[in-house]
Amino acid sequence: MTKKPLTGAELNQLAAGLNQMSRNLWWCWNQEAQDLFYKLSPRGWQNMFHNPVAVLREVSEYELRVHLQEPGFADNVRTVLNEFDAYLKDAGTWAHKHAPQLHKNPVAYFSAEFGFHESLPISAGGLGILAGDHAKSASDLGLGFVGVGLFYREGYFQQSIDSNNWQTEFYNPVHPENVPLEPVLKADGTRLVCTVEIGMNAVDFQVWRVNVGRVPVYLLDTNLPQNEQHFRDLTTRVYGGDSTTRIMQEILLGVGGVRLLRTLGIEPSTFHMNEGHAAFLTLELIREKMAAGKNFTEAQALTKKECLFTTHTPVEAGHDRFSADLMNYAMQRYLSLLPVKFDEIVALGRVEAGNAQELFCMTVLALKLSRAANGVSELHGQISREMWQHLYNVPVEKVPIGHITNGIHLMGWMKGSVRQFWRKKLSDNSNGEAKLFREKFGNDWAAAINHADFWEKMTNPEFVSDEELWALRYKLRRELIEFARRKLLLQNQRLTQGDYIRFDHLLNPDALTIGFARRFATYKRAPLIFQQFENIVKLCHDKQRPVQFIFAGKAHPRDNDGKRFIQQIIHLSKHSELAGNLVFLENYDIHVARQMVAGCDIWLNNPRRPLEASGTSGMKASCHGCLGFSIMDGWWREGYDGTNGFSIGVDSHSSDVEEQDRVDSANLYQTLTEQVVPMFFSRDSQGIPREWLKRIRRSMATLVPQFTTDRMVKEYANKFYLTK
Ligand SMILES: *Cc1c(COP(=O)(O)O)cnc(C)c1O
Repeated sequence: MTKKPLTGAELNQLAAGLNQMSRNLWWCWNQEAQDLFYKLSPRGWQNMFHNPVAVLREVSEYELRVHLQEPGFADNVRTVLNEFDAYLKDAGTWAHKHAPQLHKNPVAYFSAEFGFHESLPISAGGLGILAGDHAKSASDLGLGFVGVGLFYREGYFQQSIDSNNWQTEFYNPVHPENVPLEPVLKADGTRLVCTVEIGMNAVDFQVWRVNVGRVPVYLLDTNLPQNEQHFRDLTTRVYGGDSTTRIMQEILLGVGGVRLLRTLGIEPSTFHMNEGHAAFLTLELIREKMAAGKNFTEAQALTKKECLFTTHTPVEAGHDRFSADLMNYAMQRYLSLLPVKFDEIVALGRVEAGNAQELFCMTVLALKLSRAANGVSELHGQISREMWQHLYNVPVEKVPIGHITNGIHLMGWMKGSVRQFWRKKLSDNSNGEAKLFREKFGNDWAAAINHADFWEKMTNPEFVSDEELWALRYKLRRELIEFARRKLLLQNQRLTQGDYIRFDHLLNPDALTIGFARRFATYKRAPLIFQQFENIVKLCHDKQRPVQFIFAGKAHPRDNDGKRFIQQIIHLSKHSELAGNLVFLENYDIHVARQMVAGCDIWLNNPRRPLEASGTSGMKASCHGCLGFSIMDGWWREGYDGTNGFSIGVDSHSSDVEEQDRVDSANLYQTLTEQVVPMFFSRDSQGIPREWLKRIRRSMATLVPQFTTDRMVKEYANKFYLTK
């Protein structure tokens, strides 16, 4: 039977639906939605950071109509649009039941970075990724939630490596019309513009809205013609410039963010500061209250009731500190609106109010003006209590900083091929276990995959057999190796034909593949494993039991030590006996991260304990069957149980840094050679590593459902958002 061609009205409706959906990041965690855009322009999809908005701009109206007339395609579009619509309208979410009051008075979540997707590079690393995942889960849970951040026109830098193996940075301007952003308009259709006092000036800013499923995230942008050039440039780059830029960005975020919410008529019940960058919002809340007649003491007490603070690092440099001179320079006009002496304001950011030597610290300001504060893992909560004890003068255990362990947005991180694998599994009629799930969850397989019961089934070979799991691992490893080969080809220009052949054979699909990718902050000790260089060479060259390494990561533009780490590793990858067994992939971002956590067998994490407050990249590995291999720091201390991955060293550390590096590198090598490598290569007559697969099953069952932002956001709601 041939179907009737679609009418013009139907075509317009579907095209409009696609356009609308492209401007909602819901597609980030919906494979079928991404597939539609991929089909419209496979190369455009690949070359433009998998960005539906850019694809739709590239495909002409005529071409889109032709596709929509193809049998099947229109049906797929309709199915996805219906799902999207149902998602937006769902009135049966977790929050409808457990947190309905937040719909009227939402949580306002302030963060200097948000990492949503590779097409919108406005995040420098884990902090931003966490903020993005927090927003996605808030949406899934139906939480009353708005995000506030900055729109960085040039985003975070793109990394390339020069002929000295030195990282160089370049910036691709992000054009708002090419990414999933919408201008925020007034009722009359003109741009909404708000104002904030910076230095001696009144600086205007406009606003972009990112639709993250059901929740809006507002990004502030000072790039307006009426502003002086240096204020137009204020929001150009993530953490760009010096401390003057930094404090001015933070005034915009904190003070400007509150002004924006008031202008939009949003009355938050809680202001959640994700890291100290946003802490100036407390001053604006105090200002508002004093303008309404409260005195300074009352205004502080009321502000404190509204605010919540999450601290993210024990690393000193991660806590912004400003001199009183800089504060005076950057905030003179703003502070003139506050009927409070300058010294009293500066005192809010000092541990010892009267100590003129002490710099103003954003963390101190946030701690003093929040009703609750938390670190991001159990150990980090403890370390933070020790770190800030002097602010409270109470015994360490009484310091009012708790913890909520970080997580990841599972559906957003799970690779497409893995989602398809589980989806197929769940719809398999011959599988009794799958049938039970269908009875419980109906066709809502996303709900099934998010459920702890689903992952518990992983220990049951009747649900998924060793053979299937091992085949999945091979598929993912090969996908990563092919991704890496392609990327290495592109990274190395002016290739000879011989190089092409060499690159096409780089990396071994049978080898134990160890991944390391994150920011190259020195405490993460990227080159630690190569302290045992001779031994690692031997491991890599073992013909029966080959091991290989894939590294990636960016160093902060001003972090020369981090850049030296990169240089060292690339040098080894090209000019040592490890060439061919070690590669470095340039320009680490969310996309590279997803390929790596899915395809590697082992996810290496060797920070200098206790400096990794939580870490999240390892959480992204578990659902793909990649095992954690980590120092007992951050989340791994809570996740590791002896059966679901591998640990490096013990649950303590030395105060002597060099000693610790030595001990950790020895432990790392010992566990690698005594446990990891033998277990991976211990195969039965069918060539299957049964013990290894047992660990994968345990890691899926115990880690995946626990370390999600679904669990984390519920915890924030129950502990903090819903209590005052
Ligand atoms: C997950 C992620 C991070 C954070 O990794 P950590 O292990 O917490 O350091 C940083 N950058 C990107 C692109 C990520 O996806």
